[in-house]
Amino acid sequence: MAYRSQWMTDEIEAFRGSFQRFLTKDLAPHAERWRNDRIVDRSAWRALGEMGALLTDVPEEYGGLGATFAYEAAVTEDLTRFLPEMATSVSVHSNIVAHYVLAYGSEAQKRRWLPKLASGEWVGAIAMTEPGTGSDLQSVRTSARRRNDAYVINGAKTFITSGQLADLVIVVARTSDQPGAKGLSLIVLEAGECAGFRRGRNLDKIGMTASDTSELFFDNAEVPLENLLGEVEGQGFVQLMQQLPRERLGLAVGAVAAIEAALDMTVDYTKERRAFGKPLIEFQNTAFKLAERKAEAVIARVFIDWCVGQMVTGDLDAVTASIAKLWCTDKQVETADECLQLHGGYGYMKEFPIARLFVDSRVQKIYGGTNEIMKLLISRSL
Ligand SMILES: Cc1cc2nc3c(=O)[nH]c(=O)nc-3n(C[C@H](O)[C@H](O)[C@H](O)COP(=O)(O)OP(=O)(O)OC[C@H]3O[C@@H](n4cnc5c(N)ncnc54)[C@H](O)[C@@H]3O)c2cc1C
Repeated sequence: MAYRSQWMTDEIEAFRGSFQRFLTKDLAPHAERWRNDRIVDRSAWRALGEMGALLTDVPEEYGGLGATFAYEAAVTEDLTRFLPEMATSVSVHSNIVAHYVLAYGSEAQKRRWLPKLASGEWVGAIAMTEPGTGSDLQSVRTSARRRNDAYVINGAKTFITSGQLADLVIVVARTSDQPGAKGLSLIVLEAGECAGFRRGRNLDKIGMTASDTSELFFDNAEVPLENLLGEVEGQGFVQLMQQLPRERLGLAVGAVAAIEAALDMTVDYTKERRAFGKPLIEFQNTAFKLAERKAEAVIARVFIDWCVGQMVTGDLDAVTASIAKLWCTDKQVETADECLQLHGGYGYMKEFPIARLFVDSRVQKIYGGTNEIMKLLISRSL
């Protein structure tokens, strides 16, 4: 079927050609070591920056590429396929952290932080989740209280993507005693200069092992008052709600790319592997399972392309982003499971890409707002 995403341009296609070659040749050969070390080389971030693959839809005056979200979608798809080890952390860095700074930062803040994130000199992280609260963001307890010309931050965060490598961390903290959402603010912490900020364990995950995920501790960590994002305190929850659709769409874009990758590798495998004297794909069960998944993949592709188009024009609403995150990540996990099954025992071996895709996929239903929270958000709109 000849199909081209409606957001695809000749320019993006040309970029993707060289980007895919770069990922395969320059970075992917290190992936196994990164998985064993449970962290990627910092130099990989700088290489991605040099390649123009970070902060693609951030204006050039701040070091970005000045392109649209379509570029960002292309980068997410290619990382998912050719370097899944960095797909999530790059998405957090470019699609989330940079966009909080871009949307709410002052001119001085944007000029100070975005070029460093764009070049890969700095790695960005966002710290919302705490040991005691994840889905219920309004219950965040980490506090940031004014003392002289600084915020003094106290508390603990967990499950933070790039927590070990991060140079810049956007911390969701309570700046007043106002209950619930009203007391929350976003504060940028520069890790290199911050006494009282400590990184905890690099958590041992079942999948996405090359992506460091950490505990962070704040023990009277002092951050200058001018590192507040937005002009006044108490805007944190609203800022999070405004940006989460972008994050959710990013996850859904990655999900569709993973579905397509799982299908391709399984079609190849079942054409090659033989049982009872014929290729596996000639068994009706195998062929029908793949046909069903192919139908879903095509539907997911057309829907996600439409969502990307909506994002490019600024029309993507929060409910549609939640629908995309819910459906595409559910389908990703189902597809990964079924494709692994069609590989037989080899599918369970870590050296086979389908095995890694299976374990890496599972978290997609959990982070970025769990899929149960997506259902809550969608049902409220009915
Ligand atoms: C690999 C990884 C990377 C992550 N990266 C980051 C990061 O960079 N920054 C960050 O801040 N966080 C990050 N997270 C945290 C992630 O966003 C949270 O794990 C997620 O939001 C769920 O929160 P929780 O783990 O506290 O689960 P809980 O909120 O305790 O939920 C447990 C279960 O209860 C369900 N549940 C909760 N509330 C409801 C409800 N109202 N209705 C129905 N069901 C409900 C949930 O859906 C889930 O099934 C990451 C997590 C992982 C695993």
